[in-house]
Amino acid sequence: MRRNDIRNVVIIAHVDHGKTTLVDCLLRQSGQFRDAELKGERILDSNDLERERGITILSKNIAIPYRDVKINLIDTPGHADFGGEVERVVQMADGALVLVDAAEGPMPQTRFVLEKALQAGVRPIVVVNKVDRPDGRPHEALDEALELLAELGGEDQLDNAAYVFASAKEGFATTDPETTSPNMQPLLDLLVDAVPGPEVETEAPLQMLVTTLDWSDYVGRIAIGRITAGAIRSGQNVMLYQKDQQRVAKVGGLFVFDKLGRTPAEQASAGDVIAIEGLENVEIGDTIANAEGGTALPRLSVDEPTLEMI
Ligand code: GDP
Repeated sequence: MRRNDIRNVVIIAHVDHGKTTLVDCLLRQSGQFRDAELKGERILDSNDLERERGITILSKNIAIPYRDVKINLIDTPGHADFGGEVERVVQMADGALVLVDAAEGPMPQTRFVLEKALQAGVRPIVVVNKVDRPDGRPHEALDEALELLAELGGEDQLDNAAYVFASAKEGFATTDPETTSPNMQPLLDLLVDAVPGPEVETEAPLQMLVTTLDWSDYVGRIAIGRITAGAIRSGQNVMLYQKDQQRVAKVGGLFVFDKLGRTPAEQASAGDVIAIEGLENVEIGDTIANAEGGTALPRLSVDEPTLEMI
């Protein structure tokens, strides 16, 4: 069955097309934040390492509450060198927000990520951003983006193609750039209405594929992924299926994505994207399952380490 209270969406954007500005704007407009909370903070590239390298390495996830739905926005690495990670990250999503600059149009570097997302079966939502630019050419940029979708994902992509024109800077999204709307609601509506909720097996035993790793100096490795079946509680024992072994491990901190970051949760269930602390030596591609009677998911085909520093 599909869960209707969650949307898992990856963001695909070329650098400088406005991802950070757009996410800030969506968060502000979701009504949950006072501006002060976000003042001066650029959410998606708050990681020092990332800033140093000028590239997104660790996937950053944030969540936007809207119309009783939690929209998880999952960042994608913007560079083809991180191909393996791209393939894993898109597995968590059912939708892709494809951000395109109205003046520049889609850039060649985003092809790769978009292709992986379409192969994974996600529903693309094209956002032609920066329509306020005097040199913007929103309709042409949209046509180029739709052509790219058709080329990479087949002509079917053109049926019911979902798109909006937006200015993240001025804080609006609209289906018709001649009539500006006052807010981002048309985009939030599209994310909720056009992207399907996650397909889940709630009654089945716990299964989650570890898709990404994060790291904290205090707790070490943090396993991130989407629960595909069952539920998980903080403190419970799980079976960790690794490449060459399986072992019982205890879930330490359990977190769901929320607004700007992670928030502790007692439990989470199929469809949720979560972070788990306390699983020593957990690896990308491992399955987390019930301690008794669990089964492993197929390991991901691309399995090279992308976080050399961990
Ligand atoms: P990112 O690299 O994709 O995260 O892009 P940023 O959000 O950092 O934006 C890159 C630049 O584009 C910044 O100078 C933003 O102020 C600018 N920008 C973002 N959105 C818009 C927009 O809707 N209109 C205009 N004119 N500029 C924008």
